Amino acid sequence: MTVTTRPPRECARCTRTGVRFAVTWPEGSVCRCCYQRATRTHGTCTGCGEQRLLPGLVDGRPSCTVCAGIPKDFHCTRCGREDEPVRVGLCAHCCLSDDLTALLTDTTGQVSPTLLPLFTALTQQTHARSARTWLTVNPHATKLLQDLARGTVPLQHATFTEHAHPSKVAFLRELCIEHGLLEPVSLDIERFQTWLDGKLRTADPADARLIRQYARWVHLNRMQHLAGTGALKKGTFLAAKQSTTVALEFVQHIRASGLTPATCTQACVDDWLATGPTTRSLARGFVRWASAHRHLPPVVFPYRVARTEPVITQQQRLGHIARLLVPNDQLATDERVAALLLLLYAQPLARIAGMRRHQIRDEHGLLTVTFTGDALTIPAPFAAIVRDHLAAPPNQNTAAHRDSPRLFPGRRPGQHLHQNTIMNKLRDAGIDLRGARNAALRALVIDLPAPVVADSLNYSYTITDKHRRNAGATFLDYATLRTTHTIGIPTA
Ligand SMILES: [Zn+2]
Ligand SMILES: [Zn+2]
Ligand SMILES: [Zn+2]
Repeated sequence: MTVTTRPPRECARCTRTGVRFAVTWPEGSVCRCCYQRATRTHGTCTGCGEQRLLPGLVDGRPSCTVCAGIPKDFHCTRCGREDEPVRVGLCAHCCLSDDLTALLTDTTGQVSPTLLPLFTALTQQTHARSARTWLTVNPHATKLLQDLARGTVPLQHATFTEHAHPSKVAFLRELCIEHGLLEPVSLDIERFQTWLDGKLRTADPADARLIRQYARWVHLNRMQHLAGTGALKKGTFLAAKQSTTVALEFVQHIRASGLTPATCTQACVDDWLATGPTTRSLARGFVRWASAHRHLPPVVFPYRVARTEPVITQQQRLGHIARLLVPNDQLATDERVAALLLLLYAQPLARIAGMRRHQIRDEHGLLTVTFTGDALTIPAPFAAIVRDHLAAPPNQNTAAHRDSPRLFPGRRPGQHLHQNTIMNKLRDAGIDLRGARNAALRALVIDLPAPVVADSLNYSYTITDKHRRNAGATFLDYATLRTTHTIGIPTA
């Protein structure tokens, strides 16, 4: 006796077995997934060229019921649309229309006139199916629609904002705004106000007042202006929230330091920045505003510096300098001089390459270099290398180059050495150029007031000031120092 086992039934389209089947068509059994996809496919039938529903499959191409021999009529019995039937004989549009009519009917038995624009908009949209899904999965929204239609609750913004579950009816509210049932408002601005109220609920009352004032003056004003021009973006709202949060934390930091906003000190600001994450720098807007409006004393709040700025350690910098002091076969004398100018005076290579001989002076046994108006002393161990270079500059052995005004003459007449030539040599010698220059600048600004460094080394105050803060220098009275400090470059 033999036992025959029947192979499991599989979907004619996706070949899956063990699935629920919807129909059996000429091609075989079709699972529910494939049936749904088939009854939502519209287009031009390749068999008869007609524009209609294409649930069938002939030679792998979507086909109409006639061409595929499907014994079913998919036309809606009410509106005549040929589409997936949602309820017996009715398409999604007609079902949505029925559902909404039931929901939006007022006490007179008619669709409420105030909600009619919404009814029309919803029933006339192309995606009736998604609108139906939205209604089905949102009991809060359907209930509210019903209440609005019957006049149990007024059609106004407060009905939505004071709803027990505002987020569940937020989409319905947006629809009402879109279709002119409610006055347009900027939902982001409103969300910010709600958020602010919640945020300040537990704060010290005086601090809450200050932060609220800041949030209104700075952020709400700006958001309202942007909303007015249609340029309000999600990012603005998020940035306003973050800035306000950090501002509140900063005020709390002041309190924790035993001070009040009115007695806040520079040390308190410096401490705030030095002892926390980089996001603390977001308090800058608040501090500037509060100082300008005399809620805070005139403290300085530095800019945040990009963390990607390459910097080598001072130890690495000193290591490079020490190596440059002894002649080596990797770098020629002129290249060592260029590297020293970079490591000692934080000069960019392009500027170094283009230097003129007169920028270096040897007078009364003192070697000086000038980048701007100030002559800076070149300390002893480095002076010897620079003197070596001056005594025998390279590329000077042709008539064309004799007495070149360039500090680093190039191979071609009248030209200076190209910065890339020096750059490659120094890189080969293992010097991270940008890192080295930043490290040098940082070391210089620790020893000298930033404006002095800026003036003598031809940097903008902003840059030297930034490096100064990065180096962890404490606040100094620049103005006083500037008039009393004599120029001199610290030896490494
Ligand atoms: Zn299937
Ligand atoms: Zn056809
Ligand atoms: Zn229909």
